[in-house]
Amino acid sequence: MSAAIEHTELPGHAKYRRLFTPLQIGSVTVKNRAIMGSMHTGLEESPDGFERMAAYFAERAAGGVGMIITGGIAPNEEGGMVFRDENGDAVFAASKLSTQAEADGHRLITDAVHTADPDVKICMQILHMGPLAMNDQLVAPSAIKSRISKFTPNELDAAGIEKQINDHVNCAKLAQKAGYDGVEIIGSAGYLISTFLVEKTNQRTDEYGGSYENRMRFALEVVRRCRAEVGEDFIIIFRIAGMDMLQGGMSWDEVALLSRELEKAGASVISTHFTWHESAVPTIATMVPRAAFTSVTARVRKEVSIPVITSNRINMPQVAEDVLAQGDADLVSMARPMLADSEFMNKSAEDRADEINTCIACNQACLDHTFSGKTTSCLVNPRACHETLLKYEPTATPKKIAVVGAGPAGLAYATVAAERGHHVSLYDAAAEIGGQFNLAKLVPGKEEFYETLRYYNRMIEKLGIDLHLNTRVDTDMLADGGFDNIVIATGISPRVPELEGIDHPSVIGYVDALRGTKPVGRKVAIMGAGGIGFDVADFISHDGPSGAQDIDVFAREWGIDFKNHPRGGVTGIEPQVASAPREIFLMQRKETAVGKGLGKTTGWTHRLTLSRRGVKMMNGIDYLKIDDRGLHFLRDNKPDYLEVDTIIICAGQEPLRTVFDKAKARGLPVELVGGAFEAAELDAKAAIYQASHMAAAV
Ligand code: FAD
Ligand code: NAP
Ligand code: SF4
Repeated sequence: MSAAIEHTELPGHAKYRRLFTPLQIGSVTVKNRAIMGSMHTGLEESPDGFERMAAYFAERAAGGVGMIITGGIAPNEEGGMVFRDENGDAVFAASKLSTQAEADGHRLITDAVHTADPDVKICMQILHMGPLAMNDQLVAPSAIKSRISKFTPNELDAAGIEKQINDHVNCAKLAQKAGYDGVEIIGSAGYLISTFLVEKTNQRTDEYGGSYENRMRFALEVVRRCRAEVGEDFIIIFRIAGMDMLQGGMSWDEVALLSRELEKAGASVISTHFTWHESAVPTIATMVPRAAFTSVTARVRKEVSIPVITSNRINMPQVAEDVLAQGDADLVSMARPMLADSEFMNKSAEDRADEINTCIACNQACLDHTFSGKTTSCLVNPRACHETLLKYEPTATPKKIAVVGAGPAGLAYATVAAERGHHVSLYDAAAEIGGQFNLAKLVPGKEEFYETLRYYNRMIEKLGIDLHLNTRVDTDMLADGGFDNIVIATGISPRVPELEGIDHPSVIGYVDALRGTKPVGRKVAIMGAGGIGFDVADFISHDGPSGAQDIDVFAREWGIDFKNHPRGGVTGIEPQVASAPREIFLMQRKETAVGKGLGKTTGWTHRLTLSRRGVKMMNGIDYLKIDDRGLHFLRDNKPDYLEVDTIIICAGQEPLRTVFDKAKARGLPVELVGGAFEAAELDAKAAIYQASHMAAAV
């Protein structure tokens, strides 16, 4: 009897009945409907990467997920990343699987997962990057350079196409030998297979180009020949672009026909993906509503009799359950939520969803890392992909610890230390925990920050942390408390630039602007265009419901037609963004493009949103003074001024160390963490990372 069936008495199984219903895929039983979706973590290329991946995946298997898909593995050199030195020797190559020796490394992963829970299935993703590959041998159906690639691919000839198909088959066979339960073949996102399907990237005139039947041939041959080699019991998932979000992309009829033909060719499961990397529609950022794309999966599901997977912004068990209840999909893929909390499914099963550390879709430590060549992790869970390096082990010597400040740094420190068995008292001057997250959560599209605060509130309760709100800590309190360790996490104070007229009545801080405690006029200058300047600009330029909370608004703002599904879902549709209810100038001193420092994978969404709302971005500003006429400055060495009603200061932050300095002077055992330690470039990712490492070591 499988573990899933034994546990059906658990309360979460009744609450999330569909999520915990096993699914039969051919002869294979998947114990529940939750899949950990594929994510490239960078461990694939690390020297000790397979050991670390084994621990990372095993922890998720033990955490109750039904099936795991690995990060993408190339079937050959040309399909992946190879960096060469001047002699042409490969100095760094992304993980590929084309030899038995490479398959042996994968054994570590499959054994670890099947040992953690024999009922958990693990499939390896075969990812041929095609025209997005980062090497000099890259190939594609036609020699057409992608907008987002550095290289022009080599057009495949007939023999080249045969080789690519055979390499996929060889890779699938090796994956099977390495102990995987199946493979996922990626046929979306602008990678090789998808570029055969779409006319703009496939201009061939042979049997692999021209008509749609011909353009589908490559995908179908890959599946057909893989199936012939791996037998009937091996899972083959094929990932299609249910909506590729490309002007002139795939039509609905093409998506439907491809799905039906894939089933005939031997695919066991179809997984729906919703974009190409080069498309200008956000599909996973925090501004995307939860489960925004599952209606597309629902349509695909009607075309086939094999199971269909949906994904994107499904980050809590109730959301997954609702998607399944609507009949939108057979399986729900959650990738980043499994980084954020490896115990997601166990907590769901035990009706402890309020203990889930929810993925807030920020991309800051996962995709932003991946696309910057850093190892993936998670803002809310720095242990992700670092399981062997960052351990929260029970302490043998429990200490009495005071944590001053319940922002992200203080919360992370307090909860990790308490989890390890220390006695923690947590203080905050405010009436609620969260520090600056209480401002962040007010920004449209950042509503997920409420979940982080819900998680920490629950953990404080569960771990028995002694919480003191409305308590401004002074050194006497700390001296009298008899603490072994005192952790100062008092955060920051907003920087007030030294400028003539800075105390003019038209000047307000970002805290007042966001909290609404001071009025914001119709014509506004924002001084400072960092993360907070952008958030404030979004907040004051926004009108009506947040797109993150309303799929129709989101679809209108990004020009998507979910109902009629024109080519790519977007062809011919103009995004309709309500212009700002006020005139806004977002200013910085730097000469660089405004917003250049924002997140690698999300910055463009913020820049585009604000410019569509008519926010004017100004760089190279040398501020001179503020007076009744407005804000005076030099630009290109020419004096100018803006006649504005309000000037909002978003000019960065300074560490707030008053308590620390006094406590240290009295000889108390204090240490700093978070913004109080270092305010420059300090974000919640850095705050939680630093605090978690310190608390793991205390
Ligand atoms: P804080 O969050 O500032 O917390 C300090 C706490 O200490 C406060 O609760 C304060 O009340 C308390 N305190 C101070 N003095 C005392 C005292 N004497 N006694 C008791 N308590 C005291 N970061 C990201 O990574 N991603 C984002 O998307 C993001 N968005 C943001 C949006 C906005 C609008 C803002 C304002 C910030 C955003 N940040 C974001 C930044 C992030 O919130 C901060 O980096 C993070 O909160 C810093 O954490 P901290 O714990 O060091 O300090
Ligand atoms: P920030 O990113 O450092 O930006 C501060 C801005 O103020 C910059 O535009 C800076 O640019 C300007 N500035 C600095 N000193 C100034 C001065 N003396 N006079 C005038 N302008 C000055 O800091 P932040 O916006 O306050 O954000 C704080 C932290 O929260 C950052 O680490 C940020 O990453 C994080 N955060 C992240 C997000 C996110 O979505 N990921 C959102 C919000 C906040 P110039 O010097 O060129 O003018
Ligand atoms: Fe989710 Fe942000 Fe963590 Fe990525 S870094 S998994 S988006 S919470």
